[in-house]
Amino acid sequence: MHILVIGGAGYIGSHAVKALLKAGHRVSVFDNLSTGLEVNYFKDAAYTVGDILDYPSLQKAMSQDVDAVIHLAAKKAVGESMENPEKYALNNIAGAINVLNAMSACGVKRLVFSSSAAVYGEPVYLPMDEKHPLNPMSFYGFTKYDMEKYFDWYDRLKGIKYVSLRYFNAVGYDEDGDVRGLEKNPQNLLPIVMETANGTREKMKIFGNDYPTRDGTCIRDYIHVTDLGSAHAAAIEYLKTAPESQIFNLGTSEGISVLEMVNKTEELIGRKINFEFAPRRPGDPAVITASAEKAGKILGWKAEHSTIENIILSTWQVYKR
Ligand code: UDP
Repeated sequence: MHILVIGGAGYIGSHAVKALLKAGHRVSVFDNLSTGLEVNYFKDAAYTVGDILDYPSLQKAMSQDVDAVIHLAAKKAVGESMENPEKYALNNIAGAINVLNAMSACGVKRLVFSSSAAVYGEPVYLPMDEKHPLNPMSFYGFTKYDMEKYFDWYDRLKGIKYVSLRYFNAVGYDEDGDVRGLEKNPQNLLPIVMETANGTREKMKIFGNDYPTRDGTCIRDYIHVTDLGSAHAAAIEYLKTAPESQIFNLGTSEGISVLEMVNKTEELIGRKINFEFAPRRPGDPAVITASAEKAGKILGWKAEHSTIENIILSTWQVYKR
């Protein structure tokens, strides 16, 4: 199939491109390079630099015999979304509407979407499955929730079938070293641990050590991007037969605490990581874990690269340079 990957030069997108090429698909990427990087380009994929808010360019990319779209182009910083909701409304919501309208105009009927655990908000039960109540706590989470609602309507009205993949905490790097782009000014835990280990930062903060968890720090469900990549390929396979639209959680159901991540990194790479305990970060639930049973049953997907060792070592391989 010919797959258009919107946002395919970014961190998760480039791992998805690798999985799609490996599965034998023709891959075209549309990316505005706002966070995507040329260093992530694969020689077997075709790249167009363009923005989803530029509708004519988007429609042009969509009009080239595209069989399916993977839409990953979105802003993703939770904190920024609360300070600058306008940017998130425009890029995420208006951007997704442009993607849907371009698909509709070009007769493209299959969509894979990168959603997020942020649609759930504070856990009511754990591990969270897809039936868990949706109560996003950030504007970012709301935009993902809202986009899923648009997809529902375009399924009903336009016959566009979609698979929404709700990622939990995406981490790790391609083990063959094919994706090497580092995020500028990362906000997420593991890149910050890595930047502290390689000397980019002098010290890091652990937000809160008084949570009701085994060591007092927050627990999250970390999923390797290579596993996310294979889920995109599996979602495309699923959509080939045009069945019903679906929503899947992608996680391991295992939780790792912040302190465990820091300690295990020290142990595996043999370096000291300077940290201090700091107050809780507003809006952080104590524990989040996913049930990805549904993705296992329907997509035949399971996490195969997401051990803590592999997560840390594959990331260090990129950060140590
Ligand atoms: N965290 C931390 N220090 C940092 C960054 C993150 O202690 O410098 C914690 C954060 O409070 C949360 C966990 O690490 O409990 C994962 O945070 P991240 O921002 O990576 O992902 P989130 O779970 O918020 O989507």
